[in-house]
Amino acid sequence: MSYVAPLKEMQFVLDELAGMREIRKLAGNEDATEETVAAVLEENAKLMAEVVAPLNRAGDIEPSTWRDGEVRMPPGFKEAFRAFVSGGWQGVQHPTQYGGQGLPKLVAAPCIEMLHSANLSFALCPLLTDGAIEALLTAGTEQQKSQYLPKLIDGTWTGTMNLTEPQAGSDLAQVKARAVAQGDGTYRISGQKIFITFGEHDLAENIVHLVLARTPDAPAGVKGISLFLVPKYLVADGSRGARNDVYCASIEHKLGIKASPTAVLIYGDGKFPVGAQPGAIGYLIGEENRGLEYMFIMMNAARFQVGMQGIAIAERAYQKAAAFAKERVQSRAVEGSPGPVAIINHPDVRRMLMFMRANTEAARAIAYVAAGLFDVAQGAYDATMRTQAAAAYEYLVPIVKGWSTEMSIDVTSTGVQVHGGMGFIEETGAAQYYRDARILTIYEGTTGIQANDLVGRKTARDGGVVAKALLVQMRATAAELGESGSEDLRAIKATLVEAIDGYAAVVDYVVSNYNSDIRSVFAGSVPYLKLAGITHGGWQMARAALAAARKLKAAAGDEDFLRAKIATARFFADHMLTSVPGLGKSIVQGAAGALAIPAESF
Ligand SMILES: Cc1cc2nc3c(=O)[nH]c(=O)nc-3n(C[C@H](O)[C@H](O)[C@H](O)COP(=O)(O)OP(=O)(O)OC[C@H]3O[C@@H](n4cnc5c(N)ncnc54)[C@H](O)[C@@H]3O)c2cc1C
Repeated sequence: MSYVAPLKEMQFVLDELAGMREIRKLAGNEDATEETVAAVLEENAKLMAEVVAPLNRAGDIEPSTWRDGEVRMPPGFKEAFRAFVSGGWQGVQHPTQYGGQGLPKLVAAPCIEMLHSANLSFALCPLLTDGAIEALLTAGTEQQKSQYLPKLIDGTWTGTMNLTEPQAGSDLAQVKARAVAQGDGTYRISGQKIFITFGEHDLAENIVHLVLARTPDAPAGVKGISLFLVPKYLVADGSRGARNDVYCASIEHKLGIKASPTAVLIYGDGKFPVGAQPGAIGYLIGEENRGLEYMFIMMNAARFQVGMQGIAIAERAYQKAAAFAKERVQSRAVEGSPGPVAIINHPDVRRMLMFMRANTEAARAIAYVAAGLFDVAQGAYDATMRTQAAAAYEYLVPIVKGWSTEMSIDVTSTGVQVHGGMGFIEETGAAQYYRDARILTIYEGTTGIQANDLVGRKTARDGGVVAKALLVQMRATAAELGESGSEDLRAIKATLVEAIDGYAAVVDYVVSNYNSDIRSVFAGSVPYLKLAGITHGGWQMARAALAAARKLKAAAGDEDFLRAKIATARFFADHMLTSVPGLGKSIVQGAAGALAIPAESF
């Protein structure tokens, strides 16, 4: 089996760290019983391991292809997609009213992880569809919802997100696509979008594009962007009608995720004219000029999922590396051995595997905790709790996206290293994980953009209130660790406290210098994101160690698993958390070096 879902670990994080027991008590979550959640995860794991994961390598060798505007997916993808949607997996977290399963985001998170571990390229189609569903749920009219949501949720149709244009990447203020009102409630859309994931494919009968465009009299910049729904085929009486004027001019040849088609889409150039007027038919979502606001809903959902992609690919790379390290025999043990040993016995290989394992577990814990906060923000009975959870979730989104994906590049690269020369050879698959992971820090907002968000909107804007509230919770965990009789837990405490102090100093630095020395603050934005990711990871691993120690004491649970959890938390503290004070210095003192040399001297 090329991928086995880490169900025991997932269940542990759900129950012990992310608050599953409390979340199932919230209004609307009654169906998420212990038995249901366990059954959902097991069924999902089975489908992913047996149907979706085996296509991962095939899709890399035989990527999707373009011909005359049509895109053909690699062999097996269509059947796997049918199995995925007919099992109801697109709808795990979406409302039952539209055919979803209505389960909490916290239950969706491990399902999403398994899907991405199984096949990153394949998983992008459901990822984008989820984003389209979220945007429609938030800003669509009742008619749009009833017309599109059931078909998106049951997989008859899929969704896309059309932001990027050649001149508008990170800077969406530059979007030029045009939308002209027709006076009958529809708009005519024209322009070019690039890099559109699953912008064209043969997995479903229709594609629902969500497109950012400007009306003729819209204000300049982001305040003049509106969001439109533009189906590939128009919808008549609830089913697929005439072809709309959008077509796929080409797809990209890429470093990784080769099975996922990345499309150039041309809107309204008359290839498939609809009536006498030029332009593809589009329908406004929400109000004019509020498009970016709605798109942010979609982007936040997608950013969370891209973070999950990082965790998922790291998990898969770890599984492969661990299996290889047990098989590959090379060199005698440093302490002496009769003959060469499996490389897993060499201390440095063990360190590499622990690096992969600890980082993946830490990032998973942050992401699931964030998903739990999302559910609390939606369903808690107490309004203050809802507001606080929403703020903490928002703060964590750029960390889940930015840190987990940066982490995945390090982890998949280490996976190649564990394989030695074979890692560089495509047959093992380790190289594919590394190549596939490389996009994750770029799309859905580069790491730089996530870090800017963390600094500006999430830290400076509220004077660091949310960050500081999280720091208070971290200190409470540290205090609890200190009360433990375990040497491991006390060692974790010492390192965690240093990291918390370093983090607190950086939050103060960001808040106090944001207005007076903004360039310096932003020069440290990515290191701040990294520092925050590591400290949150260390905090969650410390909580995991505490929970494992409690369970061990109560003789509840698998002893090997629980001991390994404590050891992994200790590794994370000793090898990752220890870097926080250094990162803190580079943020507080490092701007001068980063900005000293003038642009023309490069
Ligand atoms: C495979 C793939 C799939 C994609 N899928 C989609 C999709 O489905 N829909 C869609 O709309 N788009 C999609 N994209 C586009 C993707 O979101 C953009 O590539 C990404 O947002 C970066 O924009 P850019 O490529 O123009 O880079 P640029 O914006 O030109 O960035 C170049 C560099 O400058 C940095 N930079 C730019 N602005 C700032 C700033 N303000 N502060 C600090 N650093 C900055 C960036 O961090 C980056 O390092 C996809 C791209 C790829 C490659």
